[in-house]
Order: sequence, then C-alpha cells, then structure tokens
Amino acid sequence: MNQKSRELKESGVDVINLTLGEPDFNTPEHIKAAGVKAINDNLSHYPPVAGFPELKKAIAEKLYADNGLKFAPEQIVVSAGAKHSLANVLQCIVNDGDEVIIPAPYWVSYIELVKLAEGTPVIVEAGVDTKFKITAEQLEASITPKTKAILFNSPSNPTGSVYSLEEMEALAAVLEKYPHVLIISDEIYEKINFVGQHVGFAEFDKLKERTIVINGVSKGYAMTGWRIGYIAAPLAIAKAVTKLQGQYTSGVCAIAQAASVQAFVGDQQCVEDMRVAFNRRRDLVLDSVKDIPGFNVAIPDGAFYIFPDISAYFGKRNGAHAINSSMDMSLYLLEKAHVASVPGSAFGSENCVRFSYAAADDLLVEAFKRVKSALAELK
Ligand code: PLP
Repeated sequence: MNQKSRELKESGVDVINLTLGEPDFNTPEHIKAAGVKAINDNLSHYPPVAGFPELKKAIAEKLYADNGLKFAPEQIVVSAGAKHSLANVLQCIVNDGDEVIIPAPYWVSYIELVKLAEGTPVIVEAGVDTKFKITAEQLEASITPKTKAILFNSPSNPTGSVYSLEEMEALAAVLEKYPHVLIISDEIYEKINFVGQHVGFAEFDKLKERTIVINGVSKGYAMTGWRIGYIAAPLAIAKAVTKLQGQYTSGVCAIAQAASVQAFVGDQQCVEDMRVAFNRRRDLVLDSVKDIPGFNVAIPDGAFYIFPDISAYFGKRNGAHAINSSMDMSLYLLEKAHVASVPGSAFGSENCVRFSYAAADDLLVEAFKRVKSALAELK
C-alpha cells in the first residue's frame, strides 16, 4: 500500500499516507550530536559482536530504572533493530516443527520470522470486542508439548492495545504452569503508552528465567533508521545469539551504538514530548472517527495506530468498488479518499484496517474527513 500510495502521489494525486510504522519526528538533537561526535572520534572499527560495553551498561541501567529488572551486561545483546533481535532469538531457539504461539492481530514479520526458523506459527485470535487481547483460557488452550515459545507484543502493532497488570497476571499464571514455554516479550512500543503502566513478563519472578525481553530505540526515540535493538535474556540465549550474530554481521554499526548510549543516558524529556504528541493525535483521530457509522474502534492505549473493524461494510459497494475484504477497503480508501492504510489481512485480521497517526495533526483531520465521505458513499 505504501508503494501504491507513492505511485499515486508521483502521478500528482494528493495522497495522505497513513501506512507508516514509524514516528514522523526527527531523532532528538543530543542523540544526533552523539552520532556526529562518534564519527569525528573515528569510531570506525569493528565493534564487539554483542555491543559496546557502554551501551550494554546503559541498557542494563534502563531495564533496572524503568522496569525493575536486573540483567548483567553479558545477558544483553545489541542487534540491528528489534526485528534483527527477534530473528536472532527465533533462529537460536526454534527447531523444525516447534510451535510458536502468536496472538493475532500480530505484527507482519512474526509469522515469517517463525517460518524462517522452520517453526510452526500457532495463531490465537482476538477481536475488537476484547480490545484485541487474548484471554488466559485461549492461551492455555493453545499450549501443547511442542510449544517452544509465545511471541507477545504490548503495546501492540497493529492494534495499539496495552495489556493491563491484571490481564498480564492472568496470562502469567497460565505460563507459570508450563515451564517448557519460553516467552519472547516484544516491548518496542513501551515508551508510547497513554495509560502509564507498562508491564512485561520478565517482571514476574517465576517467568524471568525464561523470558527474552526485546526492545530498542526505534519507536520511543524516533530512531528507526539507526537500526539499534536489543535483547535482555537468560545467559545461554544471549550467548547463542552472540555466536550467531558473530557469523552473520560481526555486530552493529558503531556510530549508531554511540548515539544510542545518549538516547538512554541523556535527557528523557524528548521521549515524553513525543508520547504527549501521539496521545494528542490519538484523541484527535478518535474524535474525527467517532460518528462514522460501521467504523468500530477499540480505543488504543499505546503505539500510534488505530485499527477499526470495518466488517460492517462487507457486501456494500460504490459503483465498480465492491467491499468484501480488508484489502478491498484499503484499495477503495486509497482510490476514492486518497488515504493510504494497511489492510488488516497483513496482520491476520481480515475485518480491520490499520491507520497510523504518526502524521501531522492537520493531515489527520483531513484524512478522516475524506474517509468519512468515502464510506458514506458505500451502499
Ligand atoms: N516489533 C514490532 C511490534 C514492530 O512494530 C516493529 C517495527 O515496526 C519492530 C518490532 C521492529 O523494530 P525495529 O525497527 O527496531 O527493528
């Protein structure tokens, strides 16, 4: 959809692109300055495979300060983005035919990364009625002797859902009963949370020994292009990931690592300013869509997406445009409203469409005005 929207834009159409999965802010100045300094200081040699000690120390301190988690620097491995961290972990832990539980809607890459590791994704579906969150009963029913891990994401892409402490406790109580299941906890949207309480599985004492925390600087610090992510994991897993990474990449860009140290140890006001901006935009979008019939939104508590269930439009049409799937809806909105979205089918959720609100306020208002009129024409 991103590419289609770019093509339309190049042909002169005024397309508003709400497909992007990254903050529209620039990287904060003090972080950029640390990158420039690293270049001038000739930080141009191979880095240690698992990351510079300064960065691992800064991450360990962050995990303790923000999450109350004690990890030794040897348990931390820095990779080229959280996606690379996830890929490394899955390659190390998943053997042929192992099952990996993935709650749906899920981030697109989860399924493919599990398949690349020759694992079998086991999808557990949640809909708009439960704010796209799975229940403890669903989780328990999906666990088998072949389950290797659960791949869990809160705050979530694409739904913006955030599991509460009580919901996490219920899931943790199930996981405690199955010690053969590893927990991969993707917390990349941790800093973009509008309810104020981030809970990860590693914070449960009985689960910490088998939880791999995945995080990075991409979303919270507006640093997607720097490509820095990390794991904090049981030592054996950190060692295996380091071994693998040593063969694949010899570690991660030294300049980006130096900038990321500043992200963690520097002033955190920039993170809060961006969070507040995303919160304001979320409210603006919710206000713009509140009276659109058949646009069923679960209020997102984090990240920067809304994920309305638009299945009420299935079976309707406007001239040549018939709506029978999320792809039909995304194409219709692109062609009729000139607003680009991502069909829910990409995230395992055929009834929904994802709009990113990492865009300027005036564009968001205009986009949803157009969406509303295009939807009104479907009969
Ligand atoms: N996990 C989720 C849920 C994401 O949405 C993304 C990026 O969109 C990532 C991980 C990857 O983050 P990174 O850019 O650090 O590789």
